[in-house]
Amino acid sequence: MERDIVVGAGIAGLLVALRLAEAGRAVRLVEARAGLGGQVTGHTVAGIELDAGAEAFATRGPDIPDLLTDLGLNDCIANPAPLSAWMHGVDGRSRPLPAASIFGIPSAPLARDVAAVLGWRGAARAALEPLIPASRGAAACTVGELVRTRMGTAVVDRLVAPVVEGVHSEHPDRVPLSALGRVPEHMMQGDSLTRAVRRVRDDAPAGSLVASLTGGMRTLTDALAARLEAVGVDIVTETRATEVTPDSVVLAGAGSTPHTDRGRLILAAPGLTGSASTATPTHLVTLVVDAPPLADNPRGTGLLVARGGSVRARALTHATAKWPWLRERAEGREVLRLSYAEPADAATALADASALLGTPIDDRQLVDSRAVSWTRAGRAEPHPSIPTVGEQVAGTGLASVISHAERTAKELTE
Ligand SMILES: Cc1cc2nc3c(=O)[nH]c(=O)nc-3n(C[C@H](O)[C@H](O)[C@H](O)COP(=O)(O)OP(=O)(O)OC[C@H]3O[C@@H](n4cnc5c(N)ncnc54)[C@H](O)[C@@H]3O)c2cc1C
Repeated sequence: MERDIVVGAGIAGLLVALRLAEAGRAVRLVEARAGLGGQVTGHTVAGIELDAGAEAFATRGPDIPDLLTDLGLNDCIANPAPLSAWMHGVDGRSRPLPAASIFGIPSAPLARDVAAVLGWRGAARAALEPLIPASRGAAACTVGELVRTRMGTAVVDRLVAPVVEGVHSEHPDRVPLSALGRVPEHMMQGDSLTRAVRRVRDDAPAGSLVASLTGGMRTLTDALAARLEAVGVDIVTETRATEVTPDSVVLAGAGSTPHTDRGRLILAAPGLTGSASTATPTHLVTLVVDAPPLADNPRGTGLLVARGGSVRARALTHATAKWPWLRERAEGREVLRLSYAEPADAATALADASALLGTPIDDRQLVDSRAVSWTRAGRAEPHPSIPTVGEQVAGTGLASVISHAERTAKELTE
């Protein structure tokens, strides 16, 4: 029987390799790095095992819950603490993120929490949105374009950009409308943007929009890796694919001469589809600090930061406030994750954390820190003749990546 060769052992590659093997195929999984999981991996900071990349998943749709059930991880599902997220504005002030919004797009522009961020002039402009003819913004291709045209620049700059950059690491002018879920669909049926956002919020299932796993999202990688081993997938690490065709791949391992491997190819790694994609760098600094005032969660689960102020971080997650399981494991210390568009060190992160949390934290309170840099794949066209999975084609985030990988695996095994 011809073998399947899956290139890339991020979550997409792990999942496709598993489904193919479960369907009785002989599978080889090739990964450039030493470890599996791609952006879903961990590291140890101050002796605490923490996520080094993704730390949560969106709870929408059945695919992740089904996968977790399949892997026996239901008991590990961890909900975040019921605290709000905050925003840090260009004026240097921090405020709770407006509650009734999607990606920062308000469903009630005149609400007090929205006006506090936009100012009354910006809020009044946004409130006019339902009166604007539907044709305005109808040709918009990106979230930024749509919101600017319909609600005004202040909504994009002060609300949407901090949220979208915090989630997608990209400016809303580069994020496609599909990221807004059913909002564009409701608008096509005649709703204003304000009303469409309200509808989608009303339709959202009760409960938290995100969840994680006790021990962190790396638990998912570990469970998938164990299952792959059990079903006999041949895992080859520290080996990079350099050239691909539908039935062959050139592999270059550390210290060995490149060789050609034959089989049915499936791409789960960026950069091999042949179409251009702009990669986005994300730099994450994790701090473990001894700062007892932070036990009161002064800024809820953390903050998204508007550009243009003195803080360089794009977002801060107060991980010990957000995840009760982690607070227990941190034994009185606090874990902060700050993300940046450019490389940053612990000193910068400490200064930013102090400003964002409104609590001075100096370097004597720093127990340990770790900086990691990621390059997230930009959108690319799937390879014209090789099945392709992963965030480059599915969009950022585990919910999209996992649903797309499950669908593709089903097509490949039918
Ligand atoms: C800091 C950070 C925080 C995040 N937070 C969240 C979050 O909270 N929630 C969420 O849903 N998403 C989050 N994400 C995004 C999410 O992690 C990704 O969308 C998802 O993990 C992508 O999975 P993937 O399998 O498509 O790609 P990857 O995880 O990038 O996997 C691709 C794999 O292919 C390998 N590879 C690349 N080139 C080659 C080659 N030529 N040959 C062989 N192997 C190769 C890579 O080494 C890698 O292991 C976050 C990402 C980062 C970086």
